[in-house]
Amino acid sequence: MASLAGAGLQFHTIAHHTSVSEDARAAVLANPGFGTHFTDHMVTIEWTDGRGWHDAVIGPRQPIALDPAAAVLHYAQEIFEGLKAYKQTDASIALFRPEANAARFNQSAQRLAMPELPEAVFVEAVEKLVQIDRAWIPDGEGASLYLRPFMIATEAFLGVRPAKQYKFIVIASPAGYYFKSGAPAVSIWVSDYTRAAPGGTGAAKCGGNYAASLVPQAEAIARGHDQVVFLDAAEHKWIEELGGMNLYFVFDDGTLLTPSLTGTILPGITRDSLLTLAREEGLKVEESRYSLDQWRADAGSGKLVETFACGTAAVVTPIGKVTGRDGEFTIGSGGSGQLTQKLKAKLVAIQRGDAQDKHGWIRKIS
Ligand SMILES: *Cc1c(COP(=O)(O)O)cnc(C)c1O
Repeated sequence: MASLAGAGLQFHTIAHHTSVSEDARAAVLANPGFGTHFTDHMVTIEWTDGRGWHDAVIGPRQPIALDPAAAVLHYAQEIFEGLKAYKQTDASIALFRPEANAARFNQSAQRLAMPELPEAVFVEAVEKLVQIDRAWIPDGEGASLYLRPFMIATEAFLGVRPAKQYKFIVIASPAGYYFKSGAPAVSIWVSDYTRAAPGGTGAAKCGGNYAASLVPQAEAIARGHDQVVFLDAAEHKWIEELGGMNLYFVFDDGTLLTPSLTGTILPGITRDSLLTLAREEGLKVEESRYSLDQWRADAGSGKLVETFACGTAAVVTPIGKVTGRDGEFTIGSGGSGQLTQKLKAKLVAIQRGDAQDKHGWIRKIS
């Protein structure tokens, strides 16, 4: 197993006293927002061709020095992950399915011609950062410590080939509520742009996909919508996903449908977890393709009753209104549906340690 090579890497810790006063930290944690505040430490691990992974350090969070010719700055050899540490109801700390993030990280690495990181090292890096920065985990419903592992090509070389030097980094950011439960459903715009083409990088979590989604997302905002939904590149007909969240459709007979993983859709861990939870509820869940025309027709006839988006950052977000070049349609009553709420509550209860973890998804941190 390639992913075991390099395991047993020793982490060198450079502990560092916070540069932030306790009062300032408390103020941040009372209202963390998303992605603007960061903890005191970071993990870095180096990879060099011929040597593999080395120099694993947990040290003060600080700027990184890069040669201006570093490959990541020119050809976007970059991948990332997103996962959360939760303060559980019993005050313990837990990660949700970090092994799944580690596995997906290596899938992304393969697609971007980058070295794989042993899954155990990925998980250990994340755990060690959470341990040292545990004072930065906010309390309260919906709050968490958002973890951002990523890898960049650092070799100074302008030729076009996979780099021979990389840096893996983990940073952490306290996160508050994305959307409150019972908050109004979001409105989405059907983009004319495409996110991913067959054979492209749609299934990899790489920064380049996000760079290409910024114009479509800005267009949606300019038109008064919250998010953008992408259709398939070949026929511009089949629903794929939002810029950073997967989609679920709920029908009046209780069936759930989510677009199948065709290679152009990001395999979300939230999507996968909800597949399991829905089946456990006795619901019929289908992974198949679903067209925009059918979505509109089913919303009109009442056959389709709910639609929601899901992902680590916002968990589960109801979709109320869809607008495209051919006009707009409303889903259900335009608010949050019952099954959407129920599935979200089930997932959140497991993440917070309020419901039994039957699937081994919770990894406690001591
Ligand atoms: C990360 C991501 C998701 C959601 O994945 P989770 O593992 O559930 O957080 C969905 N779509 C895209 C494009 C993503 O980058």
